[in-house]
Amino acid sequence: MPLDEFALIRHFFSPPATRADVRLGVGDDAAVLAPAPGHEIVVTTDTLLAGVHFPEDLAADAVGHRALAVNLSDIAAMGAAPCWATLALSLPRVEEPWLAAFAQGFLALADDFEVALVGGDTVKGPLGITVQLIGQVPAGAALTRSGARPGDAVMISGPLGLAAAALQLRAAGRPVPEAAAARFDRPSPRIAQGLALRGRASACIDVSDGLSSDLGHILTASHCGATLDVEKLAAVAPGEAFSGEEALHLALDGGDDYELCFTCAPETAARLSGDPALGGCRPLGVIETRAGLRLRQPDGRCEDYRGHGYSHF
Ligand code: ADP
Ligand code: MG
Repeated sequence: MPLDEFALIRHFFSPPATRADVRLGVGDDAAVLAPAPGHEIVVTTDTLLAGVHFPEDLAADAVGHRALAVNLSDIAAMGAAPCWATLALSLPRVEEPWLAAFAQGFLALADDFEVALVGGDTVKGPLGITVQLIGQVPAGAALTRSGARPGDAVMISGPLGLAAAALQLRAAGRPVPEAAAARFDRPSPRIAQGLALRGRASACIDVSDGLSSDLGHILTASHCGATLDVEKLAAVAPGEAFSGEEALHLALDGGDDYELCFTCAPETAARLSGDPALGGCRPLGVIETRAGLRLRQPDGRCEDYRGHGYSHF
């Protein structure tokens, strides 16, 4: 006999209480949460559909990890601390080993970031997962997309294009280096980096659709443009198995990296690489008054760049 809906929720999605600020978690009509005084609530939601956001045959624990990780990444980009999650699951059938692995992937990452699963919904349908994640930030301290100013440095928290490289190599049946595979299957949300950027970054976004597209959102929201240095991009692009040109396009347009792209004053940029939480961050270019995104070649030539990041429609 397969588990019924309520047994399934009890069995897989009722983890022991971990946070004192959860007055009421899974099991009632809604959760009751106690925000910290002086803080603002930061809320995000992401849906992952099989065949759209992850391959149908991706390991169940990786699906669980990704479903929470993509939401943690949005909370990181706001400079917020993640606190509470809800999980809406659409399942074609009750397959206990799959559910056990999915729950393990989800709850292990939740534990790593002290996130409590406080509710959700479970329905029958095509495989899809919607997570809502709620975080907190001291009032007024959230990072946004709209604060970049001409003269600010454009920074990235880590390497780019690795997750897209893994997908491309996998699709071509070629060997996938371990670091690239892990990057797609188990992205590491940059929560510590987001917290360290409070009061220092002028704008911030997480790179989910691709750098050109996501930095484009900062430029639009901040009413400015940017020039990125091809040589600096090469330093964060995937090396193995790709030509210089391919690697550059993976870095500029590859999605699923979940690094933070942020802007800050040039003096701040120099200091940030000394911060242990931000040890891996690097400059990529500069914010300018003139709208649009440009690339500077090693010989100094600048040209407009039109991105090819992911868009659903
Ligand atoms: P209701 O019918 O009142 O909306 P449900 O029967 O859908 O409640 O859910 C019962 C309880 O289990 C609720 O507390 C709900 O938040 C929780 N829940 C349902 N599905 C999940 C899930 N996949 N993960 C975590 N909690 C869940
Ligand atoms: Mg109810």
